[in-house]
Amino acid sequence: MLDKKLDYEQGPIRPPSEANSLLLRLTRNCPWNRCLFCPVYKKEKFSRRSLEEIKGDIAVIEKAADKIKKISLSSGFGGDVNRQVAVQVQSQHPDLFQVAFWLYHGGENVFLQDGDSLLLPVDQLVEILELLVGKFSSIKRITTYARSRTLLRRSVDDFSRLKKAGLNRIHVGMESGNDEVLDYMQKGVNFAQQVDAAKRVKAAGLSLSEYIILGLGGERLWREHALDSAKALSEINPDFIRVRTLAVPASSPLNEKVQNDEFKLMSDDDIVREEKLFIENLQGIESFFYSDHILNLLEDVNGRLPEDKQKMLAVIDRYLCLPAEERERFCLGRRTGYYRTMDDMQNESLNSSVERSYKQLQSKGLTVDQYVKKLMLKFI
Ligand code: SF4
Repeated sequence: MLDKKLDYEQGPIRPPSEANSLLLRLTRNCPWNRCLFCPVYKKEKFSRRSLEEIKGDIAVIEKAADKIKKISLSSGFGGDVNRQVAVQVQSQHPDLFQVAFWLYHGGENVFLQDGDSLLLPVDQLVEILELLVGKFSSIKRITTYARSRTLLRRSVDDFSRLKKAGLNRIHVGMESGNDEVLDYMQKGVNFAQQVDAAKRVKAAGLSLSEYIILGLGGERLWREHALDSAKALSEINPDFIRVRTLAVPASSPLNEKVQNDEFKLMSDDDIVREEKLFIENLQGIESFFYSDHILNLLEDVNGRLPEDKQKMLAVIDRYLCLPAEERERFCLGRRTGYYRTMDDMQNESLNSSVERSYKQLQSKGLTVDQYVKKLMLKFI
């Protein structure tokens, strides 16, 4: 029987790198909510959760963790939350599963939701962080999303206080460094503000993860998008650069502009060329670069900059040097889930599956590009 008291509130999204993290919701939705490309919170209003509500959730999580440990003890696992315990909890106590899943992964990482947690007063954030760290000695990393605009309302001293209290990393959706792209997409910040905000975070010694959306400049501004995004990141020197590829669901305001041809989406090939220009122009930084999003065509463009730059560009060149027909087959195979990387094109059985998909498309009169754009929406 589900114990209602052990329910706690969770928001809809988290970065891919926080898949195993405990999700603690500090605010609901996004206070800005205007970015044209963003479908996430469009129907939901922003609100701050009260300190009492958040503390209540931490108490529920603590209670759930105690209960899970008792289940482990009574099953002879000495209090460890191993796979058997997690499976048992999932089938017998589904309300405890999120916490069991977190503990199974070590109980180390926490992600503060939703889109702009640092909007809460610093004193409140410090209290929440200290409470979390005090309750769960296993915690090693606490991270959150934040908008650059909100970061600009905080001083380096504020960030230092948050770091001391337990915050380790801030994820920022920069999306682009180009002012025209940022303005068109109604991001609400410009190049200079993004750089200023990021530098404050870095000055306090917090880890910083910046996100860029490949394809966000569209056919018209792709070059400016690549060059200015690289310029901004080269000034910031973030700890992590993460890319994801633009996909436009019907629920995002950008869709109307795509439908009336005002914004022209780029093909996969052109986005790969844009990514090449972007990486080539990342200069003088020491950052991890990750393509850790299912929407990206080339998920193996990863590495540590500067030393892996040539290796990353070689992956891109390998793709661009494929004959056009093989590039098309790879795009189809990647988006249909048969291929992960270009090495999978050596696998005859996978190639046969991709070939079957290709023939089906031809019989329906669809191009690979049209089909791939539809498939990508499934991954948002
Ligand atoms: S700031 Fe982030 S969450 Fe808010 S609308 Fe823009 S992209 Fe979406």
